[in-house]
Amino acid sequence: MRTEPFSLSLSTPLDTAAGTIDERRGFLVRLDLDGTPGLGEATPLPGWTESLDDCEAALREVDDPETALDGDSFADAPAARHGVSLAVLDARARAAGEPLYRHLGANTRIEEVPVNATVGDGEPKETAEAAADAVNKGFPAVKVKVGARPLAEDVERFEAVRTRCPDVELRADANGAWDRETAERALSAFADHDVAFVEQPLSADELSGHTDLRGGPVGIALDEGLHEHGIDAVLDAAAADVIVIKPMALGGVDRAADAGRRAIDAGLDVVVTTTIDGAVARAAAVHLAAALPGVRASGLATRRFLDEDIRENVAPIRSGAAVVPQGKGNIPPS
Ligand SMILES: [Mg+2]
Repeated sequence: MRTEPFSLSLSTPLDTAAGTIDERRGFLVRLDLDGTPGLGEATPLPGWTESLDDCEAALREVDDPETALDGDSFADAPAARHGVSLAVLDARARAAGEPLYRHLGANTRIEEVPVNATVGDGEPKETAEAAADAVNKGFPAVKVKVGARPLAEDVERFEAVRTRCPDVELRADANGAWDRETAERALSAFADHDVAFVEQPLSADELSGHTDLRGGPVGIALDEGLHEHGIDAVLDAAAADVIVIKPMALGGVDRAADAGRRAIDAGLDVVVTTTIDGAVARAAAVHLAAALPGVRASGLATRRFLDEDIRENVAPIRSGAAVVPQGKGNIPPS
């Protein structure tokens, strides 16, 4: 197994729990399984995964990749595990002569998966224009970041968006910004604008708080909360209508597929999203979405947040959908 460091500059700086970053750094993982090459990507995002240094250290310790995946070598290094597990899955799918999404369990050909557009914080007019632009480009769903300003202003923003875009599916992502009372008021106000669900209205440590918020016309989605507590705890607490799956943070597309299937079996909806990774991990997330039946429009249109990429024209976005790669494995290894 070999690793190659890479660095991709971001088109706009990204605010994370660990501060603002202007590049995405990680490692390509290359291996060979009985003569078949496999390519993976480990792109840690502190706040969601281990640090870059810890990722590198975990990768360096790998002796036999397949054995390492079965043990707990990657207990605190989900991004490193993502890189190694993807390289292994890529090689296995390639050896089986099938695209990764078929290897992950899809039993029919899937040409594309629907994706959502994301609209950042802004004034009502600006928010409505960005949403209208996304609708014109064919996006079936628009996610609006909320919680950065007083609730009354976020409600005005949704009012403006709904007026401009009467039919699109709307979602909000609060990134844990609200207390319970604000969340309750938000859900009630957003219902008037037919918002499908709110992602992470309360902080990640709240599980029962989210359980209590469910039951109204606006669904509850967990993103940070899923990654903090795991799928078992989220299902046990009945804390979500929708889960947002980030394969890099969950330790690989195999684990993400398992969490997704269990959620679907329990009657939840699933959204797949990247952690603004390079083309190798983004393609794998597209394969994962293709493998999960009924996946909702997913956060896979993230190439635009990067100035450059590891590989171009991988799983491009066309008319609000990501084109699913149909070659063997994830993407060609070189
Ligand atoms: Mg989110």
